[in-house]
Amino acid sequence: MTSHVADVLIPLALDSTYSYAVPDGLALKEGDVVQVPLATREVVGVVWGLREGPGGNFKKVTGVVDSPSLPPKMRKFLDWIAWYTLAPKGSALAMGLKLVDGDRPEVVRIGVKLAGRLPKRMTPARQRVVEAAQDGVVRLKSELAHLAGVSAGVIDGLIDEGTLETVALLQEPVAEIPNPDFRKAGLSDGQQAAADALVASMHEEHPPVTLLEGVTGSGKTEVYFEAVAEAVRQGRQALILMPEIALTAQFLDRFAARFGAKPACWHSGVTGRKRERLYAGIASGEVKVTAGARSALFLPYKDLGLIVVDEEHETAYKQDDGVHYHARDMAVVRGRIENAPVVLASATPSIESRVNVQRGRYRHVQLPERFGGRQMPQIRAVDLRRETIAKGRWLSPALNLAIGETLERGEQVLLFLNRRGYAPLTLCRACAHRYECPNCSAWLVEHRFRRSLVCHHCGHVERTPHACVSCGSVDSLVPCGPGVERIAEEVAETYPDKRSIVLSSDMPGGTERLRQELAAIAAGEVDIVVGTQLVAKGHNFPLMTLVVVLDADIGLTSGDPRAAERTFQLLQQVTGRAGRGEKPGRALVQTWQPDHPVIAALVSGDAERFYEEETRVREMAGLPPFGRLASLIVSAEERESAEAHARAMALVAQPPPGVTVLGPAEAPLALIRGRYRYRLLVKTEREVDLQAYLRDWLARCPKIRGNTRVSIDVDPQSF
Ligand code: ADP
Ligand code: ZN
Ligand code: ZN
Repeated sequence: MTSHVADVLIPLALDSTYSYAVPDGLALKEGDVVQVPLATREVVGVVWGLREGPGGNFKKVTGVVDSPSLPPKMRKFLDWIAWYTLAPKGSALAMGLKLVDGDRPEVVRIGVKLAGRLPKRMTPARQRVVEAAQDGVVRLKSELAHLAGVSAGVIDGLIDEGTLETVALLQEPVAEIPNPDFRKAGLSDGQQAAADALVASMHEEHPPVTLLEGVTGSGKTEVYFEAVAEAVRQGRQALILMPEIALTAQFLDRFAARFGAKPACWHSGVTGRKRERLYAGIASGEVKVTAGARSALFLPYKDLGLIVVDEEHETAYKQDDGVHYHARDMAVVRGRIENAPVVLASATPSIESRVNVQRGRYRHVQLPERFGGRQMPQIRAVDLRRETIAKGRWLSPALNLAIGETLERGEQVLLFLNRRGYAPLTLCRACAHRYECPNCSAWLVEHRFRRSLVCHHCGHVERTPHACVSCGSVDSLVPCGPGVERIAEEVAETYPDKRSIVLSSDMPGGTERLRQELAAIAAGEVDIVVGTQLVAKGHNFPLMTLVVVLDADIGLTSGDPRAAERTFQLLQQVTGRAGRGEKPGRALVQTWQPDHPVIAALVSGDAERFYEEETRVREMAGLPPFGRLASLIVSAEERESAEAHARAMALVAQPPPGVTVLGPAEAPLALIRGRYRYRLLVKTEREVDLQAYLRDWLARCPKIRGNTRVSIDVDPQSF
């Protein structure tokens, strides 16, 4: 006898689906969320396929879960991700599947309004409430109390007396509806031409990927907003991906100014019921525009009509644990599957995207000038070999001169140093003991605000000891080198009457505090900002006219082949913070190597030459995007197990022509979180099917035993 069989994918680290019999009378379609038995448990999964077959041997589907089904294009996308990254299919599903509890009643909020009857006893506080409520608007109790400046008790008293009556408020819509014609920005000619090109491309049969390139402050955001408006006019959905930290109030306000409503926001801070409702609204098509961090790529859009990847060169788009994927690249894939155009925006595009333009795979739309005729900042290198700086100080006389002048004029200064904490290394003056992380091959970084030593790789924290843990000498610890906290100390001493602020991702208060601080900077309530790369990205500080890079050499010395590109992008972004308002800006870059190609390109403004040279170097070395790369990390709690397994894998690598397997060697961080790491690198020519080779090799490898693990990273970002 034949019956229906459902192949169900379960969101666990499993590579294949499991088959279940569909009970008679249960109507199922592909993509439905179902409950099924797995071993001794009941789990939730998604119907990946339905077929006829002898279902007699299979366990039965328990039931359908009342949660949005995954659309076919979304399932196709998840299949593709699993194939490309070699992650188990179930792990890819786990990134996308959220359960929406349909049974839970919608939260209805209670509002109050004036009922007309005056209270028996009138007090000044009650009088204020009555006045505030005079307009007849229904408000939440807390809102009314806030408006009248009274406590909640006063409101309750007035309800008891019948002066105020309660009213049930309907559930707010999950997101406001953006109006594509709310207020069109007056675009410059260059912006208009760019916007027209994007909008026209959206109507093509196979909409393209477009690289939207323009210097910082050229107005790329306003340009891609026009593409977003077009998607909304078409009745489709738009997704704007951004590095998590760029999702600022400033961005949301700009969006609201253009569309009369804020976009729906999807990021790690959105939780609980709000998250469920957004997910459901995205699946139903009710939510039109979503702005989100990389995880927003894994939502079940009903009809996605545009994907924008803002700051496409950002390393934050790479997810480095679990499923290793690059959100920019996956956005391009999702766009292809959805038949939606993709816009990659950046002032400093990745070499990958530039090469894709050269190969004719991506379109190129450029905004060569800053909006409103603003000048790019003048950039000058400060040669540290020629400056005399007092011991334990980091600002050269040349910097202090420029900082003094800027502050004198009432303008803002940004001091950029890409190092969190007080000092990157702490040692004992008496015995030279260096403080190292017990779990990682890394130094502990002193954080003075928190009075602790912190590992930036695993998060290990210990209190800064009073006496040396090795020799017992008291007060013998010396900080070596600067972090932002130490610079802030120097700034406070040098400019005691100026208001300064430190911005780095580990400061207390989280994203809320950060939002407030960014707003305070934009409003001119701060004179000097000392910050890490957190401040480099996307923010617009109109009063900032001087940007100082304290140590441009950080990053240039690492062995990573992408170091030059990264440093160039970062320094371009940071120096681009200067002069975005009315007044022109300038930037000073402290360096020991003013002749380094990165610094030379930055100072001369000749980005093109730098990119050409970097691209040539990559091509010569056969590195991406001219060749393909995967990194396999073998880790274990014992060094011997990790090494032995990595060697056993290398023995059966059997690379065919066009493929090279390098290693095993100790990974750049040989110990992280108590696990020893060995690395094998696979390098292939561009035409080679890297995934097929990896699957073939892995099938030949010995079984993994004990706590050993192999993690695969296709297109690793640092290697
Ligand atoms: P980018 O993202 O290219 O660095 P932005 O889109 O942030 O540049 O624009 C830089 C500044 O110029 C912002 O303050 C923005 O509000 C302003 N701006 C850009 N285009 C316009 C426009 N058409 N009309 C008014 N202001 C604009
Ligand atoms: Zn000591
Ligand atoms: Zn550590």
